[in-house]
Amino acid sequence: MDNFNVVEQFGIDVFNEETMRQRLPKNVFKALKKTIAEGKELDSSISDIVANAMKDWAIEKGATHYTHWFQPMTGITAEKHDSFISPTNDGTVIMEFSGKELIKGEPDASSFPSGGLRATFEARGYTAWDPTSYAFVKGGSLYIPTAFYSYSGEALDKKTPLLRSMDAVSDAALRVLKLFGNTTTKRVVATVGAEQEYFLIDKKNYDKRKDLIFTGRTLFGAPAPKGQELEDHYFGVIKDRIAEYMKDLDERLWKLGITSKTKHNEVAPAQHENAPIFAPANLATDQNQLTMELMKKVALEHGLVCLLHEKPFAGINGSGKHDNWSLSTDDGQNLLDPGNSPMENAQFLTFLAAIIKAVDEYADLLRMSVASPGNDHRLGANEAPPAIISIFLGEELQGVVDALVEGKEYTSNGKQMFNVGVSSLPDFPKDSTDRNRTSPFAFTGNKFEFRMVGSNLNIAGPNTILNTIVANSLTEFADELESAKSFNEALHDLLVKTIREHKRVIFNGNGYGNEWQEEAERRGLPNLKSTVDALSCITAPKNVALFKKFKVYSEIELHSRQEILLENYSKVINIEALTAADIAKTEILPAVMKFAKDVCDIAASKKSAGIEPTVETAVAKKVNELTVQLSEKAYELSDAVVKAHAIEDEEAKARCYHDEVFSTMQSLRAVADELETIVGEEYWPYPTYDELLFNV
Ligand code: ADP
Ligand code: MG
Repeated sequence: MDNFNVVEQFGIDVFNEETMRQRLPKNVFKALKKTIAEGKELDSSISDIVANAMKDWAIEKGATHYTHWFQPMTGITAEKHDSFISPTNDGTVIMEFSGKELIKGEPDASSFPSGGLRATFEARGYTAWDPTSYAFVKGGSLYIPTAFYSYSGEALDKKTPLLRSMDAVSDAALRVLKLFGNTTTKRVVATVGAEQEYFLIDKKNYDKRKDLIFTGRTLFGAPAPKGQELEDHYFGVIKDRIAEYMKDLDERLWKLGITSKTKHNEVAPAQHENAPIFAPANLATDQNQLTMELMKKVALEHGLVCLLHEKPFAGINGSGKHDNWSLSTDDGQNLLDPGNSPMENAQFLTFLAAIIKAVDEYADLLRMSVASPGNDHRLGANEAPPAIISIFLGEELQGVVDALVEGKEYTSNGKQMFNVGVSSLPDFPKDSTDRNRTSPFAFTGNKFEFRMVGSNLNIAGPNTILNTIVANSLTEFADELESAKSFNEALHDLLVKTIREHKRVIFNGNGYGNEWQEEAERRGLPNLKSTVDALSCITAPKNVALFKKFKVYSEIELHSRQEILLENYSKVINIEALTAADIAKTEILPAVMKFAKDVCDIAASKKSAGIEPTVETAVAKKVNELTVQLSEKAYELSDAVVKAHAIEDEEAKARCYHDEVFSTMQSLRAVADELETIVGEEYWPYPTYDELLFNV
């Protein structure tokens, strides 16, 4: 594969627009394109033709099966493969694929989490093609990206609400654009670029650690003598073995039409990042899911294991996934790109104000959207943005916003930038790209970067929330402005009022400092520290009303999701606790006892030779002390699991897992990690942080 031709190979396994153009009759192609552009459903009159063309193309690429590919509430993807074969009368088969099979599938859905949805409704689940996300061929199957819902139409997946929210924000944005004289845009698209962080470790070491195998993170491990303090890994030279992995990964991603663009080493040792070029939110979601899947798969082929957990190692940075988000018109205008004329600036400021209002009013939902047991290790610790939602605007834009609110003229570098044109809004220089890496939600010149998202998360969730809350502000703006007598005056007043009311959510300082926690409390901003704290807002009346208004989630769907997420939290901590107790009892304890025995043997032989075993006695005593603690904590943890497991109410259960099980697990770890620093290296039962982080 030395001379991989990127241009020729890009998207070669995707039934993309170019392939559609080549393979479909002109009128069918046109109709399909229209469907895609407008985000509509596929017309049944052309579906047979599209399906047949897809099948022929897929067979040429070696496919024998097709699968409706969907994203259930497990957070990962699901697929069930059916072959194209159809028997004929003479004992042979032909390859068939109908429009019906393309559009709708009926996987047996009974084992996916539904949060009680299928207890009250029909047990069946359906999948429906999302024609705005291209089909592709992988591993001998034609993959059809789909949404997954129940018999009575409740969403059972992550994609359906995302698609609904994209419609909501498009409709709302179109109303606002119309007020600015735009009559040509038919659809506004939420665009997303997800920067994916990950760790790579040697498979041989991974295999020796039950905690990594069962939980994706290390439950034990004393810090290595060297961590990330020298900052020598970030953007550092990429080692050959990693470079080969990245090259391989890029080629696989490109073939699937994923615009993998940037790769580099990250802050922590053994940590890296991959970022694509942004795409419509639903496509970006599918592509990110595929990227994560391929990252893991390609790693195995290189004798490596890719860890996507948010906090695989204590004491060094965890992994996030910056979710870059913007709104773009179907004719390619980025609505968060400050324009050149006062009118364009006014439009930009309107969208900006809508976002500020949305983020302040629904900070709880944004926080909730990134809540997971893995991400709890990051948010609030000194490496990821705190659990408090705030917006970073940067100096330039802050100046503009201040000038607007105070009714002053805006100047930049002594230059007067105020420009009274059609409207009384300031003109300002573009590309104000100061960076504040500590902000959870930062304006970065022409988009917002939501930095709280965890590396393992399906990005459909946070983007569903972003789209919906911004749709809400824009709708309220449109309601008010459409009935105004003078548009310019009404707009000016609306912007000033909105920013005054919501400027408490803007914070340009250091988000990692303790002062900010106190300041945020004074400002009345929520600080939801754990997943369990964050999940309760899902069914708060204001949030239920919001989702109902935009038909993104019904009340039933919200309750079911809350239950699934609470249940998931408890299950994850349960697995971690069982694994930790098991490792402590069956691996660490025996190793420590063996070490203690050897130390005592040496002491005894010294004694019989008339030598005082001073060091041996001290070591043995210390080890003995810690061994007692280790054993006690391990059994305490097992008891805590039994207690939490027996609780029926999902919220009380999750809280018990958080308050009792998780904290006992932490104190067990502290004892084990101390023992690791005393017990001889060759006694230790699994690879240490030194070996895991510094040997690839
Ligand atoms: P960094 O944040 O590391 O400095 P960049 O700012 O270059 O990196 O971009 C990060 C991500 O933001 C990329 O995936 C890029 O495609 C994406 N991005 C750029 N413009 C937009 C946009 N208008 N909408 C959504 N994502 C965008
Ligand atoms: Mg970034």
